[in-house]
Amino acid sequence: MNELIDNHHRKINYLRISVTDRCNLRCVYCMPKEGTSPIGHAEILSYEEMARITRVASEVGISKVRITGGEPLVRKNILYFVKLIAPIENIKDLSMTTNGVLLKNLARPLFESGIKRINISLDSLNPDKYREITRNNCLKEVLEGIKEVVKVGISPIKINVVAIRGFNDDEILDFAKLTLSYPYQVRFIEFMPFGPKNSWAQEKGITSREIKEKIDNFQELLPVDLARKNGPAKIFRFKEAAGEIGFISPLSDHFCSTCNRLRITADGKLRTCLLSDEETDLKVPLREGCSDSELKKIIAGAILKKPKKQAATPSVFKKCSRTMSRIGG
Ligand code: SAM
Ligand code: SF4
Repeated sequence: MNELIDNHHRKINYLRISVTDRCNLRCVYCMPKEGTSPIGHAEILSYEEMARITRVASEVGISKVRITGGEPLVRKNILYFVKLIAPIENIKDLSMTTNGVLLKNLARPLFESGIKRINISLDSLNPDKYREITRNNCLKEVLEGIKEVVKVGISPIKINVVAIRGFNDDEILDFAKLTLSYPYQVRFIEFMPFGPKNSWAQEKGITSREIKEKIDNFQELLPVDLARKNGPAKIFRFKEAAGEIGFISPLSDHFCSTCNRLRITADGKLRTCLLSDEETDLKVPLREGCSDSELKKIIAGAILKKPKKQAATPSVFKKCSRTMSRIGG
């Protein structure tokens, strides 16, 4: 397999594929109540098209793939797609990010189809608050889904919590304490200024540092061996805990210098930076019958133009024209 190093000495080996922009929840910071007008079916890449891009990308150095969305589990025949991607020779790590609502029935077939790691987004353990943030009443389903993932043996299980002042800051310790008994990696993510109008405000953000201090005051957090670190999270644990606690700080400590990611949107645009609207269209060349080597060249060319860094400021986020549900968070 070739290795692709971009112009800023970063090895690009991670692809996030958004299989759909649709979702069965309406998280207030991600989608308006009425939803976004969905991308038309003809514009969405077929699973075969996505698998071809993945195979070709794997030939220029992609070895890790995450399936995301919108909500990946609402796209029909998602198991078929997992089965297309899992056997690609160079893909060593296949994972998914999901809101967990449909996991109870899908955890086992996902695992058997090739998903080895799952991230579940969950911002509140309180049913009323969960309903408030997701505009849906599915906390019970998500918690059952998480239990099923444990039962099936998918590991690690990461629980992503977007920390929002005045909403779930009083639950930070509840989430952290879960790791005392359960083998989850609970990760607190700084609230980013993406999403519908007025959903974000500076004062709603809580820095990773503030969250960590709060948890440290309850019980000391010990850093986890950095050799094992992968991804942007800084990882800690309580002494003798079953799980771990991570902090992802896109605002207070952006991780551009180690960013190894590419993203494919459901309508076939390759994005090399979450915060840049620069996109390379793959759908048109694919549908016009380009060869694998032409596709490889387009992907490699986009990687070489990956920005060195983007200031992660509210004004930069606000300028991004796609929401997270469309980019594939
Ligand atoms: N639907 C799936 C889910 O919720 O896990 C996958 C897609 S969702 C866009 C991916 C992640 O983006 C979720 O963990 C969600 O909390 C996060 N996200 C969306 N908008 C965000 C924002 N404004 N700030 C921080 N995280 C955000
Ligand atoms: Fe759906 Fe995920 Fe966005 Fe929530 S964060 S609305 S679950 S895509």
